[in-house]
Amino acid sequence: MDLFSRMTGYGYGEVHVRRDEASGLAAIIAIHDTRLGPALGGCRFIHYADEGAAFTDALRLARGMTYKAAITGLDLGGGKSVIIRPKGEFDRVALFEDFGRFIDNLGGRYITAEDSGTATADMDVIRTKTKSVTGVSKDKGGSGDPSPYTALGVRRGIEAAVKHKLGRSSLDGVHVTVQGVGHVGYYLCKELFALGAKLTVCDVDAGRTARAADEFRAVVVGTDAILDVEADVFAPCALGAGINDQTIPRLSVKIVAGAANNVLAEPRHGDALRAKGIAYAPDYAINAGGLCNVAEEIKGYDEANVRRRVMGIYDTILTVLERADKESVSPHVIADRMAEERLARASR
Ligand code: NAD
Repeated sequence: MDLFSRMTGYGYGEVHVRRDEASGLAAIIAIHDTRLGPALGGCRFIHYADEGAAFTDALRLARGMTYKAAITGLDLGGGKSVIIRPKGEFDRVALFEDFGRFIDNLGGRYITAEDSGTATADMDVIRTKTKSVTGVSKDKGGSGDPSPYTALGVRRGIEAAVKHKLGRSSLDGVHVTVQGVGHVGYYLCKELFALGAKLTVCDVDAGRTARAADEFRAVVVGTDAILDVEADVFAPCALGAGINDQTIPRLSVKIVAGAANNVLAEPRHGDALRAKGIAYAPDYAINAGGLCNVAEEIKGYDEANVRRRVMGIYDTILTVLERADKESVSPHVIADRMAEERLARASR
């Protein structure tokens, strides 16, 4: 496997690997950048087709965390870990204990959190072996579910985009289509409804859309039909790669701003949105509220600090959109530039 050339391509950094026969642990910890602080990023625990795919996931995701922390103004670097899910039976507690020891050996340079396939209970097990873990239970000093803060940040990003694109300082009467009303989508609807926004929602889970209709007077449409709804804002809060060659021609909105990670199928789709006159709030900048929440656990949780930081996502998105117009480039390019500028200042 061409690991070193891939690391060079992503601008690394270091990658640590541990294998333990007894527990079945096969883990990768990717530390992309620590110029701003210790590398924080979740632990993914899923099956992989092969080891190369696991390395690629860790490298790509850790780099994304560097940019997310940098643009949000957090004093954190970017890291991510991957544990390859064993095929047969395994002792989950022993596996996460061993993973906790692995993290501890890195002396605080990597801090873990939940991600796909891991849960609060796993973070609690890791906590028995290292302090370098966030997302533990509330009774153990943890910060709980990050989704309400992610939703708050997305709401602030939508407010900034509405101000920039529509010249409106209020969401009253603004029509937002929300794709996916799961953890973040539900709380986002709650935020938007409280500010007078008009909502259209979809989800593959009918129970979730019924709840949004009931609590927030949301109009429910099919998961495909949502793309054709004329509205002010499209908020993707389900899957990645939702903005692509098939969906862009169908969108009749002025703004795309939602929680979904990696929402652009490819970077060129950010340019396609711009060409269509749609303002795009870059995913990692607008959905950083959850990261602000777990980051606060490191120094002792203070809810007021989290809220202040998450409210600041408004300024980040406004700056990104203003600079994009001024410099005549797409917002996703500006977001990367802003993150890289902060990293460059830190390394001086
Ligand atoms: P979730 O699984 O709770 O919610 C996703 C929802 O989308 C579910 O209700 C699911 O039924 C629905 N869905 C799936 N396929 C769909 C489709 N084709 N059309 C419409 N709906 C569909 O996940 P979440 O935690 O709310 O996260 C949503 C997105 O936001 C993800 O991309 C996630 O990576 C990102 N994100 C979440 C957080 C967080 O704090 N939870 C933080 C940052 C980014």
